[in-house]
Amino acid sequence: MSRKNAAYKSGRHFLQIPGPTNVPDRILRAMDMPTMDHRSPAFGELGRTVLTGCQAVFQTSGPVVIFPSSGTGAWEAAIVNTLSPGDSVLMYETGQFAALWHAMAKRLRLNVTLVPGDWRHGVDPADVERRLKADRDIKAVMVVHNETSTGVTSRIAEIRAAIDRADHPALLMVDVISSLGSVDYQHEAWGVDVTVACSQKGLMLPPGLGFNAMSPKALAVAKTGGMPRSYWDWQEMLTPNANGFFPYTPATNLLYGLREALAMLQEEGLANVFARHSRHAAATRAAVRAWGLEILCQEPSEYSPILTAVMMPDGHDADAFREVISETYDMSLGAGLGRLKGRVFRIGHLGDFNDLMLAGTLAGVEMGLHVGGVPHRRGGVAAALDLLAGRSPAPSQSAT
Ligand SMILES: *Cc1c(COP(=O)(O)O)cnc(C)c1O
Repeated sequence: MSRKNAAYKSGRHFLQIPGPTNVPDRILRAMDMPTMDHRSPAFGELGRTVLTGCQAVFQTSGPVVIFPSSGTGAWEAAIVNTLSPGDSVLMYETGQFAALWHAMAKRLRLNVTLVPGDWRHGVDPADVERRLKADRDIKAVMVVHNETSTGVTSRIAEIRAAIDRADHPALLMVDVISSLGSVDYQHEAWGVDVTVACSQKGLMLPPGLGFNAMSPKALAVAKTGGMPRSYWDWQEMLTPNANGFFPYTPATNLLYGLREALAMLQEEGLANVFARHSRHAAATRAAVRAWGLEILCQEPSEYSPILTAVMMPDGHDADAFREVISETYDMSLGAGLGRLKGRVFRIGHLGDFNDLMLAGTLAGVEMGLHVGGVPHRRGGVAAALDLLAGRSPAPSQSAT
């Protein structure tokens, strides 16, 4: 509490929002380079390295394109390359990000069916199957893999299976903006047509890069279809990308960082990265249960491995609580977005993160609950540490 109102706050800021995430020192140093000539042979080598490296992380043998953009730009690229005004698309209101992608789709004059949701569950694959069987004209099913506003994931492989059971030609488009690089995601094996990602969440980079991965079917659709486009045009990118170059000035220094991030993911091993996040998520949930607070996500098979949204007890404002934690412990937690404003806080445990960082994060939350006068039980940190240390957890904390 001594740091309250101090002009200088010693030690590292805890950036525990679910994106942007902590950028590892290794990546910061990799970016600390003179800006290079993006038409030089050296750049071509960098470009080829990162474009190939991205394929491993998206788990695809097909192309990945990289835009200097936020995730929102990559959403738009996915739409304008494949869909035309008036096209029917199916979307699911899983949370704030699904709602924003929906708003964009409407502005781009798509004919969107938005299936309402309670922001506590992912997309229901059976509903996808039912709706596709009833409407052969739907051109795309567009879903968010990890709803960063709610801490709920949707089961993409099961959604693909539902589309196949309906024997429907719709494209499957998936937003993995927060999950890529932290949660298992298989663009090719899961039969996704367009994957939308960006740099500042699971991928551990600063903001500024947007990604699309495309299936052969999506590329074929884009050849003859889509909307008028220029900056976002896949083919404009893919032609120079073949030699590692870009049609306009790329975000050179972010690409140095991307090269480092891809190397780090490869060195740790993707399977280990995914297991690490699942373990940290389980430990976080153990803490939340021990505090006696409620997890927003209601379906255990849809718990997000990378963030946990926690409901505030009635009569307590999540933003006031976050403010207490920020001022007292110099830690940022995620706010409730959209209709959840003030009602939840979100603990990000994604990207470059380890056991002791999680322990510190949860300690900050537990102390903040006390300092902020939020009703809770003690013992959340202890429950998380038991799980992290491999001590057998008490039965009430054993659910993962
Ligand atoms: C952060 C986020 C976005 C928006 O990305 P920006 O980089 O802010 O444009 C979209 N979808 C999801 C799931 C996100 O987490």
